[in-house]
Amino acid sequence: MMSVKASSPASESDPSRRNNLALITSLVHHHRVISRAQLTKRTGLNRSTVGTLIGQLVALGLVYETAPSGEAQVGRPSPEVRPSPSRAALAVNPEIDAVTIGLVGLGGVVHKKVRFPTERIPSAREAVNIAAAVIAGMRSELDADYRITGVGIAVPGLVNRDSGVVRHAPHLGWRNEPVAGLLAEATGYPCEAANDASLGAEAELLFGAGAGRENLIYLNGGASGIGCGIIADGILLRGASGYAGELGHTFVRTGGKACHCGATGCLETEVSQSPLFELAGLAGGDAAQLEHALLSSNSARVAAEVARQLGYLGIALRNAVNTFNPDAIVLDGFLGLLHALSPTALHQHLQSSAMDGPAGEVRIYRAALGSDLMMIGAAELAFTRFLADPAAIGAPLARTTDKALTLK
Ligand SMILES: [Zn+2]
Repeated sequence: MMSVKASSPASESDPSRRNNLALITSLVHHHRVISRAQLTKRTGLNRSTVGTLIGQLVALGLVYETAPSGEAQVGRPSPEVRPSPSRAALAVNPEIDAVTIGLVGLGGVVHKKVRFPTERIPSAREAVNIAAAVIAGMRSELDADYRITGVGIAVPGLVNRDSGVVRHAPHLGWRNEPVAGLLAEATGYPCEAANDASLGAEAELLFGAGAGRENLIYLNGGASGIGCGIIADGILLRGASGYAGELGHTFVRTGGKACHCGATGCLETEVSQSPLFELAGLAGGDAAQLEHALLSSNSARVAAEVARQLGYLGIALRNAVNTFNPDAIVLDGFLGLLHALSPTALHQHLQSSAMDGPAGEVRIYRAALGSDLMMIGAAELAFTRFLADPAAIGAPLARTTDKALTLK
């Protein structure tokens, strides 16, 4: 049911064993801790087969077992299986004012996060150089203590996942930048890139507010506008070229402001965080400062602006709910804050404006993964290929690392 990953190609001599290893590794990764009994139940395999497969994964250094602690699941005590913390991926997230680099272990656990502030908006080359330099600084620790499966790059813009080329990132001013290729060349690790909100949607689906859901709309509001990722029937909606889900550029207001995309009245131009910062009396700052200022404000102007923005957000969500019939909407960044400031507004808007069927089923959540979300999402990009065939990727890693060392 957790199907946000490619199925592995069945080319080797024993595809069923490979698939079963992949299935168990994915379940352990996505649950963080799961009992042997639960693995048996979830895979439908018999107990001894599951025991053998776990033994192979332990030998590969991908998982380890602990005595029953009751942490895993309800039911009969059964040994618990956990992902190895040393199997990890690197995550990179360039933004308009910083490049953040993370080290994320299997299980979506952020071991380390370095935010490297930039004085101006970084070019693609500068962002790659910063990421490569930070990774080089971590290199001795990575080589000694971790096995890195690859690097995932979360970019606020249109990204072709297959080629790793950023087609257009308007807020960064990037066009046709082969960031994944550049970073792979600079670090020696396999690199992949994708849209940040798509990765956020997958992370919330696997580890956050959307866990256990199949149909989810994730919306993130930040300094770079509104990003969106749509999960339909358990799979990220990609579209013909991977650009699907730009809900930020759907139409919400006649006679609205001009948007950088060339249209007018986009959700992203009508719903933005800068008026909120102004009303809060803040010249700048982060989401936590904005939240503190707005939650402690009882200004009528703040309340009116929050209501205005939620009204336009409600229009976009109504269209999305009628189109996609999601069971969850997950709001992140300042959109999560708007919802927290007036928790019933969006629900009421949807009940009164969306169609009865889809409106009755949808629930609205604030994102659960906080500031780690983009690291977890980007790392998942690097884990996906590994999880499809964990046993095979175990061996080539050593060669990748050797190659990386010679490139330094
Ligand atoms: Zn637009």
